[in-house]
Amino acid sequence: MTGGADPGRHAERLERAARVAGEAGLSALLATPGPDLFYLTGHAPPPLERLTLLVVAPDRRPMMVVPLLERPAALASPAADRIEVVGWADGDDPYAVAAGLLPPGRLAVTDQTWASHVLGLQEAAKDRTFVPAGRAMPPLRAVKDEEELAALAKAASAADAAFADILGVAFAGRREAHVAADLADALRRHGHRTADFTIVGSGPNGASPHHEAGERVMADGDAVVLDFGGHLDGYCSDITRTVFVREPPEDFERVHDIVRRAQQAAFQAVRPGVPAEDVDRAARDVIDDAGYGGSFIHRTGHGIGLEAHEPPYIVAGNTTSLEAGMTFSIEPGIYLPGRFGVRIEDIVAVTEDGATRLNEAPRDPQAVR
Ligand code: ZN
Ligand code: ZN
Ligand code: ZN
Repeated sequence: MTGGADPGRHAERLERAARVAGEAGLSALLATPGPDLFYLTGHAPPPLERLTLLVVAPDRRPMMVVPLLERPAALASPAADRIEVVGWADGDDPYAVAAGLLPPGRLAVTDQTWASHVLGLQEAAKDRTFVPAGRAMPPLRAVKDEEELAALAKAASAADAAFADILGVAFAGRREAHVAADLADALRRHGHRTADFTIVGSGPNGASPHHEAGERVMADGDAVVLDFGGHLDGYCSDITRTVFVREPPEDFERVHDIVRRAQQAAFQAVRPGVPAEDVDRAARDVIDDAGYGGSFIHRTGHGIGLEAHEPPYIVAGNTTSLEAGMTFSIEPGIYLPGRFGVRIEDIVAVTEDGATRLNEAPRDPQAVR
């Protein structure tokens, strides 16, 4: 993980979180193990039934309630000198301990908090109101700093390298699941700690955007959607390319070209100040104009960082203004039931005057054997 590199960054993040929560009319932000806790403190305990809870409130020193056995790890975390760490012992009621430390009012709970913990807190602190942070306050992690951008670029380059490798493996006569395993191996070979998803959607399976790689045996003339990624140095990769086995199926090249033009149009729409939904519209207009509007059945993209899907979402109705340092996918697709699907996905970063692609794997249709 890169979280410990600069001790000042966690102080800045904790102060910003408290300020943003206060501005949103919240009396605190509560974070349990997961990306928000890691982002704010560098502490990354396993998410468990035992309660770990960071309380960040305006005008108060941050506090973290931790299981006693995890107190040494909490005290060794990068932001420990900024936080009051309170241990609770097995046999104590952690929710009662936490409730005693919560300010009154509306408290935002980070989105990855287990229901058991939220319900435990609600029970122990009946006079407080708990709301989801994702809806109650602006996202804290959407604009990346230089170090985060470098980590995302490194993860994207490794995914590109995995794609280059996969062009050399056999598809015809093998099952999707085997190519998925090859993809996972390639991601790890190029430095990923985890390969989190490896979609291999061949032939008609490609028309289901989140198809899990399965038992279908691939053959010449299949289009194959490859959408894969994982974690490298704590940050996520996510790329999609659509290849064909030796010969493209009928209409494939035309449909692929439409998706590629849609992806390019969305990319060119990105710059600071543009509403996220305009980027979705730019991709959708190209596909609508080509007569395939009904076949583009998902949003154009999602933010990416410590999580594979996070704000900003590139979707109709999201009027969030893009800012330099935001990172997200652009991944339009056309899905033709019973035939094939085509999707092209790159991760992009918003720059001062436009955008830059973090993925550079070839976007023209590639043949595999
Ligand atoms: Zn997806
Ligand atoms: Zn993807
Ligand atoms: Zn994606």
